[in-house]
Amino acid sequence: MIVVVSGPGGVGKGTIVDALVHRDPRLWLSRSWTTRERRPSESDDAYVFTDTERFERRIAEGGFLEWTEFLGNYYGSPTPSPHTDQDVVLEIEVDGAQQVKRLYPEALLLFVVPPSREEQERRLRGRGDPGDKVLARLKKAEIEEPIGRALADHIVVNDDLDATIDEMLEIIAAARPS
Ligand code: ADP
Ligand code: 5GP
Repeated sequence: MIVVVSGPGGVGKGTIVDALVHRDPRLWLSRSWTTRERRPSESDDAYVFTDTERFERRIAEGGFLEWTEFLGNYYGSPTPSPHTDQDVVLEIEVDGAQQVKRLYPEALLLFVVPPSREEQERRLRGRGDPGDKVLARLKKAEIEEPIGRALADHIVVNDDLDATIDEMLEIIAAARPS
């Protein structure tokens, strides 16, 4: 099974998927490649941080399941290599989610939304994103949200984090073929 977790920047996707794979060992988290700079608060292995030349070489080699350009940088999911008994989790924006749904219509798409735009902004600022990046992400969210909502199998409001994680684990468990 492929589980796509999508939603606007700062909604909590990264925090949620880390908890999902921690709680459910059957979930295998794909590590994306990006050309954006690492945030000071971010660990070295949050992404494969790379440059444009290497990213474009991998595109040419057909090494991505999906990739996109988002606010001036490349992001992509390398062709996954999970154990056979594991489900793949992709934490990606909506253009990538659309690509995955086209390739794998049976993929489960969970679209995470914030309780309000104000709370999303608080989370982005709290994470230490610079002011111009916060504004760009909020603007992008206005475009992404209607597309994501229309594409989603489930829309999850990330208000209380623990409740969100429980809800998503239940949705994933229910979607597994018995
Ligand atoms: P995304 O991956 O969607 O860009 P992050 O996982 O980086 O978002 O989360 C953005 C910030 O919001 C982080 O500082 C995270 O700790 C915080 N956060 C995530 N979920 C919640 C929540 N339910 N309530 C309050 N803060 C949250
Ligand atoms: P950030 O810069 O905040 O880490 O990520 C920006 C956006 O890119 C987020 O919506 C995140 O989910 C998305 N993203 C991260 N990795 C990938 C990827 O491999 N493919 C796509 N399409 N989007 C990604």
